Amino acid sequence: MAEDYYSLLGVARNATEAEIKAAYRKLAMKHHPDRNPGNKESESKFRTINGAYEALSDPKKRKMYDQYGEAGVNAGASGGFGGQGGPGFEGFGQGVDVNEVFGDLFENMFGGQGGGGGRRRAARGNDLKYETNISLEDAFKGVQLPLHFQRVESCETCRGSGAKAGSGVKRCTQCRGSGRVQVSQGFFAMSQTCPRCGGEGEIVEDPCKSCRGQGRVRKDAELKVKIPAGIYHGATLRISGEGEAGPRGAQAGDLYLEIHIKPDPRFERHEDDLSVNAHVDIATAALGGATTVPTIDGEPVTVKIAHATQHGATLRVREKGMPKLHGRGRGDLLVHVRVDVPRDLTAKQKELLEEFRKSLHDEHEKGAPGVFGRIFGKE
Ligand SMILES: [Zn+2]
Ligand SMILES: [Zn+2]
Repeated sequence: MAEDYYSLLGVARNATEAEIKAAYRKLAMKHHPDRNPGNKESESKFRTINGAYEALSDPKKRKMYDQYGEAGVNAGASGGFGGQGGPGFEGFGQGVDVNEVFGDLFENMFGGQGGGGGRRRAARGNDLKYETNISLEDAFKGVQLPLHFQRVESCETCRGSGAKAGSGVKRCTQCRGSGRVQVSQGFFAMSQTCPRCGGEGEIVEDPCKSCRGQGRVRKDAELKVKIPAGIYHGATLRISGEGEAGPRGAQAGDLYLEIHIKPDPRFERHEDDLSVNAHVDIATAALGGATTVPTIDGEPVTVKIAHATQHGATLRVREKGMPKLHGRGRGDLLVHVRVDVPRDLTAKQKELLEEFRKSLHDEHEKGAPGVFGRIFGKE
């Protein structure tokens, strides 16, 4: 059961129109969504008091409400509750963005003093979003990419005014240049975008032929985008003012570029570190030695392999990873040791290995730990 409209507004049943209006203003100020961002309770309270006010501020509806309660008020509505609008929102019809409605209402009623009100809904150009694939090397060095795309740009013929040369724009007579018109919705007076000038406040007398009076045309654009060294996969760059042009010289939107880094056949990236596999033969792994691994900067490095290095061991080469995007220096290169078991042995090698195996067993039988123990972990 919904709360009584009078008690919602905190007025007596015989309150005058002025008292109802004053009480409503006070509550609307307090619960306006712009003042309570993200507060669901305030939002629903705001809707409820709006509903109550709409019913009580209309003498006909108030009479219906007094006689039949809420059902009497809602029965008079010609449908179009929008499912979630709540009581009193029938006049707004379906598909109206609730915040938009709140904004307009408030702007009109309180002269824009409520936060967010008063701001002209000036059409800024649209933002654009693109994705680009770069190699790991490009991400390492940083790269300047030519980006070819289409966007709406200001018309050169009319310099964005939409008017043919020699003709001008004149102030819209319907809204007197404000771009907004007042519309009555029952007791409410709402401000809406002017239908004659589309909110521009101006009307083109003789439209420019190149852009048909729009002031903007779709064009091929090219932009050189500098991608910083150390960029991460999935990072988005915002290039301010490189989106679509706004109408009639209004501010352009931004261009967003999402960076994708193609997988590299050699390196894996872990934040600023890279990893690479190093293949080492069994003799080097057992006796020690060195191996060479590629690096992202193109200069291979020689890595020392200590004796008895195990398969799967990781060695760290400092400062051979990716450059740090925020900060100085580089990450490390992690070298994962892969000990290769030889596949095609010559007769001589087989002979040597047989001899080696025999020596392992001899040592094992003598009870010495030996190489066998070290390799297979039977210490
Ligand atoms: Zn033009
Ligand atoms: Zn207008």
